[in-house]
Amino acid sequence: MSESIAVDDLVAAVHCPRRYEYAAVYGLDGEERSSAEAAAARRHEYCRRAICAALRTGETDPDALLERARTRLADHWHARTDGVHYHSYAQRDHERRVHEATLRAYADRFAEAHASGLATLRERTDGELVGPDLPLSSTVTAPGSDEAITLESRVDLVFLDESSLVGVRFVPTLSSLGLLRYRGRWEGDVADRFEAHVDAADETFDPGPVGALYETAATLDGLRAVRDRLELGDHRCRYRHVALAAPGSLRVNWVRDAVEVTLESTDLTDVFLDHHTYGMTLEHRNRAVESRLAALADALASGQFDPHEQWETISSHSCPSCPYAVCCGDHLGEEVRFDG
Ligand code: SF4
Repeated sequence: MSESIAVDDLVAAVHCPRRYEYAAVYGLDGEERSSAEAAAARRHEYCRRAICAALRTGETDPDALLERARTRLADHWHARTDGVHYHSYAQRDHERRVHEATLRAYADRFAEAHASGLATLRERTDGELVGPDLPLSSTVTAPGSDEAITLESRVDLVFLDESSLVGVRFVPTLSSLGLLRYRGRWEGDVADRFEAHVDAADETFDPGPVGALYETAATLDGLRAVRDRLELGDHRCRYRHVALAAPGSLRVNWVRDAVEVTLESTDLTDVFLDHHTYGMTLEHRNRAVESRLAALADALASGQFDPHEQWETISSHSCPSCPYAVCCGDHLGEEVRFDG
């Protein structure tokens, strides 16, 4: 049986291979988050589930979808927030209003395109097209290896948009994408930053965007398998993120007692796509990213978790915000050495 790697764990390894070991090999959960991060995680998770439940009904009218999503949120609200510590009832009510405003923002901006694209695709398949967490899989083989490794990615929704098959993942925020958020093409500074990050002799360390490029490569390949299964051979695949809980997305007008949410999304396909490869294959691909992705997967599959080759960079960039810092021997050893 071939080795299998979850793409989220592989992205963690871009920050530090030891994180991958803690998460994927030992199954350890990271340290407790701050209350603000925990609230954002709830908003992302509850809204994501409510939106997927609404889309599964087959409704295409945004108002009807909003009503379905709100009903789903209401049905699960008490059970889901039962064990959550709130400072007051007012805080709990406020959080619920933020969730409802997030659903409204989704209905206003995205629901119509997503639901109608789903309806078009449903006519062609009886398979699952709405998650949360629809599994996709692809395989990579590192140069010089004959061992294929399966990469497991996930999206929350697959739909048809004109001539593209689109995978959407609802994420908490787009902030980890760094410059990918502000660029629409691979050639130029995105390619330069990627090459600098993967060059062991260069001090550049940009794990957020590099991890997102690997995630895009694996997800697009998984979507291509779905496309082929559905016999949509003339459609290119695209991959989008929609952020449901970004810190700057919320505005509260305390005078008018109003909560407003603005949602952001980004299409990672254009910034990933290298036009040289596209010219040869007519696929949304990037050979440089794909070959580095295969090499990283191969290193992880063969148990290469030691961060010390890049220790200076990892200890200054990744350790301070690492969820495993309290239990990590590499980090604690460094702290003792520094104190002593
Ligand atoms: S604390 Fe530092 S060395 Fe340990 S897993 Fe986290 S990033 Fe890696």
